[in-house]
Amino acid sequence: MPLCPFPKIHPSALNKDAEYFMTQAFNLSIDAWNADEVPIGAVIVHKEEIISSAHNQTRNQTDPTAHAEMIAITMAAKKLGDWRLNECDMYVTKEPCPMCSGATITARIGQVFFGLEDSKMGCLGGATSLHQLERSNHKPKVYSGILREPCEAIIQAFFQLRRQQVST
Ligand SMILES: [Zn+2]
Repeated sequence: MPLCPFPKIHPSALNKDAEYFMTQAFNLSIDAWNADEVPIGAVIVHKEEIISSAHNQTRNQTDPTAHAEMIAITMAAKKLGDWRLNECDMYVTKEPCPMCSGATITARIGQVFFGLEDSKMGCLGGATSLHQLERSNHKPKVYSGILREPCEAIIQAFFQLRRQQVST
């Protein structure tokens, strides 16, 4: 794969809003691309500080569970010394898959923000809504469409290039 054609974005840290943190996740998706991974990045925020960040590593780790969200959740729990992440928010560039949505709920993450919706595999409202299981005692708040445009563009460009490479 050629190197990622998208530049990193450097927002002002004066206003740490949802777009600010999603920008950090987006920048990690660029790192993922350059490591020949599907360009998805995630950060976990605790008290307005990023306590863990990761991108997909399934190819490099030869591990189908090495999604950005899974790695970031494990790192955040280790850092806080607590497996319960109620006080944490997760920002991820694409809607979490069944595995990562499940981990989000199991870790009791307070709020999840994602960029691009995934109607095929997304389980926080796209294909189904694991965060709204009627009898579950933890229902994270979910916000979609944060910085959707760049999050979608980089994933589309990646798969377009990969398809071209396979066909040539
Ligand atoms: Zn996943």
